[in-house]
Amino acid sequence: MSAAPSLLGVYAALDRMHARRGWHWWPDADPFEVCVGAILVQNTMWTNVERALDRLRGANALDPRVMAALSGEELEDLVRPSGQYRQKAKKLRAFLDLAESHGGLELLLSVEPAALRERLLATWGIGRETADCIVCYAARQPALAIDAYTIRLFSRMGIGPRSIDYEEWQAWMLEILERERLQAAHPESPRDLYARYHALVVMHCKHLCQKRAPRCGECELRDRCSFSGSEAPEAQARG
Ligand code: SF4
Repeated sequence: MSAAPSLLGVYAALDRMHARRGWHWWPDADPFEVCVGAILVQNTMWTNVERALDRLRGANALDPRVMAALSGEELEDLVRPSGQYRQKAKKLRAFLDLAESHGGLELLLSVEPAALRERLLATWGIGRETADCIVCYAARQPALAIDAYTIRLFSRMGIGPRSIDYEEWQAWMLEILERERLQAAHPESPRDLYARYHALVVMHCKHLCQKRAPRCGECELRDRCSFSGSEAPEAQARG
């Protein structure tokens, strides 16, 4: 693992570059819609999720009770644009059962964050990234989601773990962010910082640090990025 960089410095640069952009879950969004979106976005692009959410909204099914009353075929049909629709309908059903077992979505999301994450991970079809997105953006509690964008950005910058292990990346970021947050008396709460950080990383990788042709000339991070100016940039990317 490389020496600790200033992740708050990276955050400030990302904020200057992308704060003006809109992002689906930031600063806040309807909690159930976040949960549904976090499940539907698995293995697909957000544009496909938006089409599925539009269909669910049109059927008034972006409500836990209404969705739970749908037949399996009805739910599959509504989420079809998100791909793998049979599996995703089952995953939504498993999530609805979890919420029901806690007395409803609101009570489930009020569970303490570590316990909530554990219960989500014990639910069929919910992995670590989905669980952390639900804890952070739906329950609005501290959780930092890691994804391929996170690994691509920091790997290109030449910092972070050398593996692609989710927990290792998350622990690396959280340890540095917590230390820097306390040292700098950073004004944001951990939850808000993690929510904005993940959103900014996603926006940066979609708009500038793209997989095939990153627009390094427009990037404020280029002076501290080992990828920028490389003659064989793809060879350096692990994300
Ligand atoms: S300089 Fe290029 S490779 Fe590095 S973070 Fe910016 S866009 Fe990505």
